Amino acid sequence: MSKAKTDRELGMGRSITRRDFLNGVSLAVGASVVPRSFAWLAFGVPEPMLAPENDPNYYPPAKTGLRGSHDGSWEVAHALRDGKEWPDAVSDNESYDLIVVGGGISGLAAAYFFRKSAGPQSKILVLDNHDDFGGHAKRNEFKAGDRLLLGYGGTQSLEAPHHYSKEAFGLLQELGIDVDRFFKYFDQSLYKSMSLKRATFFARETFDRDVLLPGFGTHYLGLTYSSETLAKIPIAEPARQDLSRLQQANVDYMAGLSLEEKRRKLTKTSYRDYLLQYVKVHPDVIKVFQSAPHGLYGVGIDAVSALDCLEMDYPGFRGIQLESHENSPEQAEPYIFHFPDGNSSVARLLVRSLVPGSAPGNTMEDIVTARMNYARLDNPDSSVRIRLNSTAVRAKHVGDLHNASEVEVTYVRGNQARKVRAAHCVLACYNTMVPYLCPEMSEKQKEALAYAVKIPLVYTNVQIANWKPFEKLGVSSVYAPASYFSSVSLDFPVSIGDYHFPSQPEQSCLLHLMRTPCQPGLPCKEQYKAGRWDLFTTTFATFERNIRDELGRMLVEGGFDPARDIQAITVNRWPHGYAYEYNRLFEPLDRPASERPCVIGRQPFGRITIANSDSDGHAYTNIAIDQGYRAVQEILTMRSGSTS
Ligand SMILES: Cc1cc2nc3c(=O)[nH]c(=O)nc-3n(C[C@H](O)[C@H](O)[C@H](O)COP(=O)(O)OP(=O)(O)OC[C@H]3O[C@@H](n4cnc5c(N)ncnc54)[C@H](O)[C@@H]3O)c2cc1C
Repeated sequence: MSKAKTDRELGMGRSITRRDFLNGVSLAVGASVVPRSFAWLAFGVPEPMLAPENDPNYYPPAKTGLRGSHDGSWEVAHALRDGKEWPDAVSDNESYDLIVVGGGISGLAAAYFFRKSAGPQSKILVLDNHDDFGGHAKRNEFKAGDRLLLGYGGTQSLEAPHHYSKEAFGLLQELGIDVDRFFKYFDQSLYKSMSLKRATFFARETFDRDVLLPGFGTHYLGLTYSSETLAKIPIAEPARQDLSRLQQANVDYMAGLSLEEKRRKLTKTSYRDYLLQYVKVHPDVIKVFQSAPHGLYGVGIDAVSALDCLEMDYPGFRGIQLESHENSPEQAEPYIFHFPDGNSSVARLLVRSLVPGSAPGNTMEDIVTARMNYARLDNPDSSVRIRLNSTAVRAKHVGDLHNASEVEVTYVRGNQARKVRAAHCVLACYNTMVPYLCPEMSEKQKEALAYAVKIPLVYTNVQIANWKPFEKLGVSSVYAPASYFSSVSLDFPVSIGDYHFPSQPEQSCLLHLMRTPCQPGLPCKEQYKAGRWDLFTTTFATFERNIRDELGRMLVEGGFDPARDIQAITVNRWPHGYAYEYNRLFEPLDRPASERPCVIGRQPFGRITIANSDSDGHAYTNIAIDQGYRAVQEILTMRSGSTS
């Protein structure tokens, strides 16, 4: 077994941009230092002059270190959860037609749909607790000399956009997005032309020795392998034979059961248990597949049903006679609908459309390199205003629920609570926040809203000096079932407008690493809760050390030296990540769709309606848009009722 590297050998002392400490202190509740950017609070200076967003250097996409739900974004919400109140809120003396809580894609889409229906003069305020808009759709910028490198800190791609609802697809079109242009912008042949393959990295802690195996990767789980490839997998010989059997044998491991019985049993059996109890594989096989569903489910095969795995075309079901979904129309669309900053471009297009002067340009191409003007977002002259660094802590009707004509929203910005009113309010924030914002809701609705547990995950961008090690190894992406990050990939090769993907291996580029902090063995919601805690308590230094160690070991044969080759790191941690997707291994089998907690929870509450992808229990951009649309339709129906 090779020796673990020291911090020094890994380059832990090297100067990369690492500003998480500053990010963390800048907005923390109760921080003893008054941050410069919030100095108006301490010195009575008028806010607009010194609001942090007005500083010409305020540019969150370029921040590195610990991002995603960065320190400073979550403390107020956690204090609210823990019982804090803000009785001394000062009034902004502002009044709006609509306040939207949550500046993710759902909230921005709600603002867009409302303005479209209610007219361009509609006054709308969007509040978000982060220092940047977009929610999970977050942009990470890097510099390689004069060249801009763009990465996605969250929401990656538009998945199967031709199957979006007409509202969601229509919104993309109105924003100027012609999805078919991605066929030109996404270079589908680059890695293939260089013979780069998917690979698996077997880490020595679980597999005895470190092995990088090109040609064996998650997306090939269902395929057969040559005996040479199988021989290189560092598992016990009987496990290798089982792997081969799994992939080749046409056996019905549930013989004797009807198709319906099989379906029901597979729904309530994890893939792990199916492999062990029905296929009877050697336990080493489990180690190989354990992390395969991480990217989709945020948990391993112990907490994903065998039926889901069958539908994803995992091996072992060839003789079962149930259909996989691999040939569904959605699967037929290639995975190419990707802006270099992910769906942050969608959020940026929404903001450009909502707030005049917030970004130059007018095409889907020029938004990619446009620099947003954050000082314009909360401009009193604009009918739509976006107020960042502002956490809503209360949304209540002014007067009686049934007769109120206004909603008052209290929010905390800096260390000051403020109040603002509007005729209507859309809560496009995490649904679990809503019971804290509206404690007078019925217990049934609050319980339903609190039901879901969002899925924690980490998307990390690592800037490296060049990608020659990948060329040398013949690898474009790596599945790492036993490592801290369970996948590592070269960025998607997309060039659009003035943005050019670094297509030469000698060029500096971004690697994308994904981690899901799950705890195998627990029910999935418990895994998500434990993972969330893990993310809140993991320091940047721990992430950095793991990144250096993992990349160094994985790519060593390609000549990669983490101390020399890593230039910058941005860790986007999402303790509240994907919307909870009603994992059928753990959910009741026969619950009608209308009785799902998200449906009960999203009912209008007086003048307050509820959006966010949480309200449909699906973590997708189109769902976030659809839910923003629905929440606005509910308001419009209410308005037409009150005027008729
Ligand atoms: C890592 C990751 C990758 C993803 N990849 C994809 C993908 O490739 N394709 C795809 O279609 N979908 C993807 N998704 C899902 C997709 O991002 C979401 O469905 C969608 O963007 C969610 O938008 P939203 O507005 O509903 O919620 P969010 O993006 O969560 O926005 C809600 C906002 O409200 C804020 N907020 C919460 N409480 C308060 C409060 N009290 N006051 C003020 N603000 C508050 C939150 O901090 C957040 O900024 C991904 C999600 C994650 C986490």
